[in-house]
Amino acid sequence: MKEIYLDHAATTKLDERVLKKMMPYFTEYYGNANSQHGMGRDAQKAVDEARDEIASLIGAKPSEIYFTSGGTESDNWVLRGVCKAFADKGKHVIISKIEHAAMLSTAAELEKEGFEFSYIGVDKEGFIDLDELKKAIRPDTILISCMYANNEVGTIEPIKEIVKIAHEHKILCHTDAVQAMGAMRINVGELGVDFMSFSAHKFNGPKGMGALFVKTGARLNRLISGGHQERTRRGGTTNVPGVVGFAEALKLTYETLDEDVKYVAGLRDRFIKRVTEEIPYVKLNGPRDGSKRLPNNADFSFEYIEGESILFSLDLAGIAVSSGSACSSGSLEPSHVLLALGVPEELAHGSIRFTFGKENTVEDVDYTVDKLKEIVERLRKMSPLFKLDGTVKEV
Ligand SMILES: *Cc1c(COP(=O)(O)O)cnc(C)c1O
Repeated sequence: MKEIYLDHAATTKLDERVLKKMMPYFTEYYGNANSQHGMGRDAQKAVDEARDEIASLIGAKPSEIYFTSGGTESDNWVLRGVCKAFADKGKHVIISKIEHAAMLSTAAELEKEGFEFSYIGVDKEGFIDLDELKKAIRPDTILISCMYANNEVGTIEPIKEIVKIAHEHKILCHTDAVQAMGAMRINVGELGVDFMSFSAHKFNGPKGMGALFVKTGARLNRLISGGHQERTRRGGTTNVPGVVGFAEALKLTYETLDEDVKYVAGLRDRFIKRVTEEIPYVKLNGPRDGSKRLPNNADFSFEYIEGESILFSLDLAGIAVSSGSACSSGSLEPSHVLLALGVPEELAHGSIRFTFGKENTVEDVDYTVDKLKEIVERLRKMSPLFKLDGTVKEV
């Protein structure tokens, strides 16, 4: 039985070398990093080294890195933390329509608490509308946030320009870089952002481990109250193995980033080419220009069939993919990202996300395309809209 994992945007495999680096911090150096004895100091030393390593890899100061339980917490923290800190100055926040649920559902809650949100649209490839963004700015705007790279269709957003617009108006700027971190070299200084969210399990690190970059001087209230951990800004006993794993995963990712990106983009492009050429009535969602799209992402809408049916058939063939966003699957709502791109509802329902990783091979790509051809043909034969010869019925 084949097992082909094409869902790297949902999560990735923990790198064995990362696991090896983490292990002693579960069983040997298990002290609380806040304790004042030798065991505590050993743990704290590992945390300090990891923080220094991450900071230097992304062009930040160690004091600007705060460890969290993942991308979701980092996103929640920045939204709630800025709203709380600036409530006396303004109650208006600007975000994109294609943010992750961690942002959108927090925004919905904050709206109920009296904050106002503007949701900026995107073009048909998923790029944020910068004119609409500029027009949405008000004297009481306290934060602008746009994700660095979209988790469903792979669009890489012009963060540098967004930061420039925000800072021209003296507004703080955040980006959710959870998908971007493993796909490109991040440099917070160069981008100029005030806040950036990260999650280790998207680049072969451990699950339940994330970080928030907070630029020196950027005001932000805390989300998690507790002890004095993380310079009193995030309570909770430090996840020492997780912190060590985050740093190791990022270090290893950046060591071979250029060759891995080239390899994975090659798989993606082979897949996109074959699907587009060999399967009729299929549309690629997201940017056509491969350099403006996450190297691992291919998202397709298959006309006249349900994405869920394709997903289940691929699963039976041992191929793991995602229909729309994993977080919203299970519901019958079409993906908010595809709708924001202007994909019609019926087509959005027939969409599948394939996300490749460095463990995948050319054989995986070819096997998947071959299976997909069979599956799509079979499902279309059962579709009332389709004739047996493969042409569309007149309605
Ligand atoms: C996965 C993901 C998150 C959530 O991160 P977790 O660590 O799983 O909580 C947030 N934003 C984006 C863009 C993601 O892809």
